[in-house]
Amino acid sequence: MLKRLSIKEYTEGILTGNRMILSRAITLTESNLPADKILAQEVLEAVLPHTGNSIRIGITGVPGVGKSTFIEVFGQYLTKLPKKVAVLAIDPSSPISKGSILGDKTRMEKLVNDPLAYIRPTPTSGGLGGVANKTREAMLLCEAAGFEVIIIETVGVGQSETVVHGMVDFFLLLMLAGAGDELQGIKKGIMEMADLIAITKTDSGNETQADLAKVAYQNALHLFPPNQTGWYPEVLTCSAITEKGMKEIWEVIEKHRALLIGNGYFQEKRSQQNLEWMYYFIKKSLEEKFYEHPSVDLYRKDIQQEVCEGKKLPINAAMELLNLFYQNRK
Ligand code: GDP
Repeated sequence: MLKRLSIKEYTEGILTGNRMILSRAITLTESNLPADKILAQEVLEAVLPHTGNSIRIGITGVPGVGKSTFIEVFGQYLTKLPKKVAVLAIDPSSPISKGSILGDKTRMEKLVNDPLAYIRPTPTSGGLGGVANKTREAMLLCEAAGFEVIIIETVGVGQSETVVHGMVDFFLLLMLAGAGDELQGIKKGIMEMADLIAITKTDSGNETQADLAKVAYQNALHLFPPNQTGWYPEVLTCSAITEKGMKEIWEVIEKHRALLIGNGYFQEKRSQQNLEWMYYFIKKSLEEKFYEHPSVDLYRKDIQQEVCEGKKLPINAAMELLNLFYQNRK
């Protein structure tokens, strides 16, 4: 059993970039024990003034597109600059270890041993909201520990992209050549969120196909309404094997940051994200309180049944449950 650290020990450890303490602090934020939750919030509050200084990048793409391999190579490109890079993940679809993105750290063998990189697998419990919250807190702790680039990986198949998009500055979508097929595999909404589409695995003879895909994606992006930040999403080709495109991708990310800092959208986006997060919490905790309420819990199934059988209007059923909640509040 490890000795319990004080807030001061956590804070100092994190701010001096002590990885062991950073890892313990992240574990603390992931704990469901009430005492841990309180301490975690105190640690977060203490380091809050030292957060926010990184470039936050979300990376998504369907399983097999090459996300881990890309992050392994791109991450090393960044550490050579040199930049301190933290890699986090959101994968609510995966059970504890098997198949979990970043769960198997050997997928990023070199980056994991790079002294300027820090890799943390996806939190394993809590549903999408819980997992996202834990990742968000891990991101803040990594920023306080001095990481300059935070990469958040997620799978491009569900709602997790929207959540990741809501916590990063730049959203990178990895795709493959063969536009027709891929456009079907990835939802239009995800493409619409992308600041950059990188067509990966542009190597071993498929360069022409990748160039054609690039044009197809550029055309597809033009169909979306212009982004209010003044940024026009770009399309590039890259390869994790030949390292083609790594430099160009970083340049696009820096160009995007410069534009948004210049026109004020950078700060506005972050403020907006913080507000969304706050309201998300209010909604979540009210919802939890509602469903945990003894009278609601007691009568919900019966009322639900009446709605299903057409005996009660949904709106009346909702009012009835809400009244139970309001009248008998502890
Ligand atoms: P993920 O599921 O999106 O994380 O995909 P992985 O990174 O695990 O990659 C899936 C497969 O694609 C692996 O067999 C990789 O070796 C291969 N791969 C990844 N990037 C490249 C690339 O740039 N070029 C080629 N030829 N293969 C790649």
